[in-house]
Amino acid sequence: MQIKQASRVWISLALAVMLSACTIPFVSEQELAIESEKQFTQMRNQMVISTDANVRSYVFCVADAIIRELEEPYASMDWDIEVFDNEAVNAFAMPGGKIGVFTGILAVAENQDQLGAVLGHEVAHVTQHHSVDRTNQALTTQVGTTAAGAVLGGGYAGDLVQLGAQLGLTLPYGRGQESEADVVGLVYSSNAGFDPRESVQLWKNMAKASDGAPPEFLSTHPSSDTRIDDLIKELPGSLVSYNQAKADGKLPQCGD
Ligand SMILES: [Zn+2]
Repeated sequence: MQIKQASRVWISLALAVMLSACTIPFVSEQELAIESEKQFTQMRNQMVISTDANVRSYVFCVADAIIRELEEPYASMDWDIEVFDNEAVNAFAMPGGKIGVFTGILAVAENQDQLGAVLGHEVAHVTQHHSVDRTNQALTTQVGTTAAGAVLGGGYAGDLVQLGAQLGLTLPYGRGQESEADVVGLVYSSNAGFDPRESVQLWKNMAKASDGAPPEFLSTHPSSDTRIDDLIKELPGSLVSYNQAKADGKLPQCGD
């Protein structure tokens, strides 16, 4: 009995050292997708859904144009898109293929090109696995400090996955992930035929909208001081893609 107890302590200490050395994949893309499905259904049940047919078809049109440009398996995924009648400046995409747009963001993203920039950015967080990476980083840090207690207490693993999945959908992205989503998102939106120059205007509008209280979108998508400069650097390449998309007949006309 004593030997067993001692070996458990050693195992937990060894685990704590291991966990602090690297990021452990606690939560998979699949587990996050299951949690996404639950949260998306919950939002649909609890929030006001837009019934404005024009607004809905506008958002679906922009989202569909972006989705067509994604790499597989994302392009063929059955994306579920919802428009929430809510004044919060917010939009999101979740693992498993969920996109939510709050009508409040349509006052900041003033045209289809700017909404294309928002959705390209959001979907890029999904295709680049940002939620999974963020969750597993956070859990590694958390568990690294409490591993001994968790192991000795036992039975925490399943709870951790569940909690991790919930946490992963609410954690703000990191600055590096934001830059990556900007760059990858711009590729998607330009290839879809949305003018990449409007992405610069979009972030200027976001900055203006965040005077006073920052919009919800920015609280989960931390901006950097160099975001607009970095986007401008991407423009030459993006404009080539945009012109090619137009030459290929990709001329989205989603409305205003
Ligand atoms: Zn973001």
